[in-house]
Amino acid sequence: MAILKMAVTVIRSVFSTPATLMYPVRPAKRTPVTRGHIVINPEQCITCRSCQRKCPTGAICVEVKEKTWQIDRMRCVICNSCGDVCPTKCLSMDPAYPVALTARGGIYKVTVAGPKKKEPAPAAGTDAAQPAKE
Ligand code: SF4
Ligand code: SF4
Repeated sequence: MAILKMAVTVIRSVFSTPATLMYPVRPAKRTPVTRGHIVINPEQCITCRSCQRKCPTGAICVEVKEKTWQIDRMRCVICNSCGDVCPTKCLSMDPAYPVALTARGGIYKVTVAGPKKKEPAPAAGTDAAQPAKE
């Protein structure tokens, strides 16, 4: 009986359309909530490390002294937790799927802006130190 069931499945598979998609020959369907891969705007990163602490797989490494931000895409499970906690919103989800990766090709490292420098207080007696007149 099991052989008969298997034979029916095989015959049905032979004459039906492929169950798999022809990606990337045919582009995958994308919606506004499709999760492709995390991208960073390096100009806005203040190296606070919130993303590194929140990442459940340890995919992110932020070096404060070197001012670098790194992601291992082989470890990333595309949960967007890093994007949710980023205080400057410099991490976002690109709906495009990344290219196929190897263990060596999964690392993406970028130099970032780092902590914002505080504006020096205006010297006493200058126009900037005076309150605005109405
Ligand atoms: S999307 Fe999730 S797994 Fe990927 S780097 Fe961000 S927190 Fe880590
Ligand atoms: S990407 Fe965002 S959360 Fe991560 S270190 Fe930079 S500013 Fe902080």
